[in-house]
Amino acid sequence: MTTEDATRELLVELLGEFYRRGWVSGTGGGICGPADGGGLLLAPTGVHKERVRTDEFFTVDPSDGRVLRSPERSDLRPSECNSIFCLAHRERGAWSVVHSHALAAVLAGDLAASDRTDHLAIRDLEMLKGIPGVTNTDVHLVPVIRNTPREPELVGQLEAVLADPRFADSRAVVVRDHGAYIWGDDVLAAKRHTEVYHFLFEALVARRDHQKEHRP
Ligand SMILES: [Zn+2]
Repeated sequence: MTTEDATRELLVELLGEFYRRGWVSGTGGGICGPADGGGLLLAPTGVHKERVRTDEFFTVDPSDGRVLRSPERSDLRPSECNSIFCLAHRERGAWSVVHSHALAAVLAGDLAASDRTDHLAIRDLEMLKGIPGVTNTDVHLVPVIRNTPREPELVGQLEAVLADPRFADSRAVVVRDHGAYIWGDDVLAAKRHTEVYHFLFEALVARRDHQKEHRP
């Protein structure tokens, strides 16, 4: 089996796992990973993510998002995340990016909105150690951007937060009312960061609810 075959199988496995956790449901969300020869394998758009097969990925050029290879099924189109995944690759060296539609990411975005800030400040959690370079004594800042009618229109805001030194350690960007993009150097790093950030989002939201209930 080639490296790319193994990557395709891993991407399919993760789409199934993320579907079962409610992170890519209703055909939303997506994932990409490295193709042999320097391309990115990209899941198709508008399909049930838990049913994507290993031969249904597109291969795109991460320098411009151009499709290098299409799957045999001619009714498939490349994910709308294409331009964003390619941006994370160029700006952060990410070879794998997960796009989540998880409720926890949406509710975490609501916290930033109600605080009138452009970020989440995450602290006092052991799980922070799952992000490279971050410890459990740090205050970890994750940018939160506004949603747009179409996914590719998020690119301008994403470029701005990726260039913002406050967010240099973040491997995630939350999109309000929508979800999050989470990346890593390879597919397993992206998987780890995806699990860690979903825990952090859930913890932030649960702690805020807890504070509200116990306010005198
Ligand atoms: Zn989306």
